[in-house]
Amino acid sequence: MKDFAKKAILASRALRLISPGASAAILMYHSVMPDPAAHADSLGGIIHAQSEFRAQMELLARDYHPMTLDAVVEGLNGGKDLPSRSVVVTFDDGYTDNAEVAMPILNQLGIAATFYVTVDCVEQRTLPWPSRLRFAFRKTKLRTWTDSRAKSWQLDDSDSCERAYLASCDNCCQLSGKVQEDFVRSTEEQLQAAAPGDLSSLMMSYDQIRSLARHGHIVGSHTMTHPNMAYIPEQDAKAEFAESKQHLERELKATIKHFSYPCPAMTPHWNEKTVAQSRSVGYDSAVTTNGGVTRRGDNPLSLKRIRPTKTAEGLRWNLECAFAGRAV
Ligand SMILES: [Zn+2]
Repeated sequence: MKDFAKKAILASRALRLISPGASAAILMYHSVMPDPAAHADSLGGIIHAQSEFRAQMELLARDYHPMTLDAVVEGLNGGKDLPSRSVVVTFDDGYTDNAEVAMPILNQLGIAATFYVTVDCVEQRTLPWPSRLRFAFRKTKLRTWTDSRAKSWQLDDSDSCERAYLASCDNCCQLSGKVQEDFVRSTEEQLQAAAPGDLSSLMMSYDQIRSLARHGHIVGSHTMTHPNMAYIPEQDAKAEFAESKQHLERELKATIKHFSYPCPAMTPHWNEKTVAQSRSVGYDSAVTTNGGVTRRGDNPLSLKRIRPTKTAEGLRWNLECAFAGRAV
């Protein structure tokens, strides 16, 4: 739809008239930086510019009801009613900019967010594997690559590199722990293009994670090693749920109640089995990357989220459509 048409619909508040009951929109962010182009070769398109993020948070504080994830989960479980147009801000992965750039803005506006941390990346000071592979496929000087099934891939231009990268992600997302690390390292060696060590500072330290909690934000788990939880063996998935929870609880001296499913490649990225596992490990909630708002009666262990676009106006449009029950 053209921008002027969207603006006319938003100004008329027509979408609000068809809003079907109380609901909450859980927004999914990753990274906020002054200059998103600076790290596009590793993080890709998941970085919000600091100025746009501030504009989006100001919009939420002004026109919506920012809530904590705890309050929304309580509302879903039959507790206190949610105010209409409730929103929750969440971050995946655990980047340093979450503490250094996003938190000051959130604190200033009184928005308590939830930060899901990839525990092994924090402890080993490494980027999540999709970023390491992206960097290797974008920076390699080689013109061909042979994958683990002996299939040969051209690396002539950015499109062919992207195709080979996505194929490697389809393999890697089914691995976890040491096997996954071996896969990533051998691919980096094959392509002769490993992400430089100074990129390790892009991941938060435990001190920074503790400071998020001290300022009233919620810390949750985003697994140990960022696999697709629906594709790894059951025992490995259970370990990803449990160990990440234990490590965070030991470091923060608090109960970790919330989980976020990585969605690095392949679908689905969760299923009934993983939902049962997350329950047995003791999580109260789990968010997915499936799109839509959360309504009373939804299962708190497979919550939908909304992808924020990169501008405040785009975010407003996505939120209004989502609250009106339309796909975004
Ligand atoms: Zn992630």
